[in-house]
This record gives sequence, C-alpha cells and structure tokens, in this order.
Amino acid sequence: MKRAKKRAAQPVGVAGSTKAGRAQGLLAVFAHPDDETFTAGGTLALHAMSGCRVTLICATHGEKGSAGREGFGAAAYEQLRVAELHEAAEALGIAEVILWDWGDGQVAERDEDSSVREILAVMRRVRPTVVITFGPDGISGHPDHIAISKLATAAFDRYRQEVKPGAPQPRLLYIVPSAAIPSCCWQRAGTPAPLPATTTFDIRAVRPRKLAAMRAYRSQSHLVKALRQDHTAWHAPKEYFHQAFPALSEQHQESTEAVICA
Ligand SMILES: [Zn+2]
Repeated sequence: MKRAKKRAAQPVGVAGSTKAGRAQGLLAVFAHPDDETFTAGGTLALHAMSGCRVTLICATHGEKGSAGREGFGAAAYEQLRVAELHEAAEALGIAEVILWDWGDGQVAERDEDSSVREILAVMRRVRPTVVITFGPDGISGHPDHIAISKLATAAFDRYRQEVKPGAPQPRLLYIVPSAAIPSCCWQRAGTPAPLPATTTFDIRAVRPRKLAAMRAYRSQSHLVKALRQDHTAWHAPKEYFHQAFPALSEQHQESTEAVICA
C-alpha cells in the first residue's frame, strides 16, 4: 500500500550526496505535511542553505486533518495537503520529499518491522549525518507523531550500527517544544513529558524561508495566526532539539550549534 513520490530529487552524486559512501546530509522523518515546517522548518532551511542535502520523509498525506477543510471534498483536501507539502519543501530548500501513504491516524497500526525497514532503506541510501524526528512525546501527543518517532528511532539504531568503525557517528535529534512551535499544538492529556533541550539552531538567517513555508500551508493558516499573535513566538530566534544519540552527559549544557553536515 506504499505510494512513494519523489520530487526535485537530485541524482546521487551531486552536492551533498553519498559519494564514497560517506555519511552526508540531513534526514527528517515526520508523519504529516506541515510537521516539518512548524517544528523544524528553520533548521531544515538552515542546513539546506549551507549546502547540506536535506531529505524529508512524510509518512502520510495528512488527509484526516480537520483544519482548512471548508469547501473541500475528501480527495481535494488530500490533494491540497500534498501540494502544500511540496510548496513548503521548496521554500525550505528540501532536496527530496519522500511521501508515503501510510494513512493519516494509522501509523501506529502498521506492521512495525516492515515500517522500520522502509525507513532504514532510505537511511542506507541517503546516509544522513543527522536524523531529525519527534521525541517520544510527539510534541502534541498525536499517536502518529509518537509512532513515527518510535519507528524512525528503531531504524536509526540499526543504521548507526552499520557505520564503519572510525567514521563519524550519525546523530539523532528529537524535536523539543519551544516558543517557535505553535502552542496550540502541544500536549494532549497523557502525553509524556518532552526530553530536555540539548541542542539549538539559530534560525534568524532563514526566517523568510520558514515564513514562506508556513504560509504555503493555507489549510493551517490558524497556526500562523496563533504564532503572529504572540510576539515571542513570531520572532523566536531558535529551534530546540534533544540529542538522543550519541547520548550526552547529564551535565551537558544546552548549546547552539552550527550546521551539522559532514
Ligand atoms: Zn502532525
């Protein structure tokens, strides 16, 4: 039931590619169109602008979303969500969008092993230096977010074990809630507490790109509106992450990093 769609894919061998099998680039793994933009859009754009090849897996078409449905039939709404994803990805400079049709709201019900293998196959092909996904809290506690976090983490754990001894270890970063993320989307009841931020990226230089990506999501204009009403959120200079691998010591102080891309 997989439908893979690649857009603006550059052939392997161009900038940021897997030349000589070296880990290079950033892979973001999310559940729905818009997850990438509202949680990590600045960081993705920052890496893309710095010449890092950014690949995005979006596991579903977001067809069950309730926002912005007015005047759309089911099929048209799904098409809108997918079109918005591609428009936003272009604004952020994402080199390749891998869009699957795992079913909005059904990610947790999929066969775990085959789902992990699908994500792992992408990791083996793009050989990312850094993988970004949700943490176990899923930011909002959305079951799809929590499920994709678990699947991406399991795939990453296998991928990192394949790295040759002596080669730089890939990193796994989880999204951490912050002022930069619309607060309306946080914390359903029973959501696990988010992990502490260890790593931040200064996104001020790519703010126009993140803004363009957010505006591409016309169906989610309420999120942009919510952010605009909060001066701190609208001008948030950083996006926050928890480095899940390699694990950092408890004494580690949150640090602002330059781009992570070998
Ligand atoms: Zn989502």
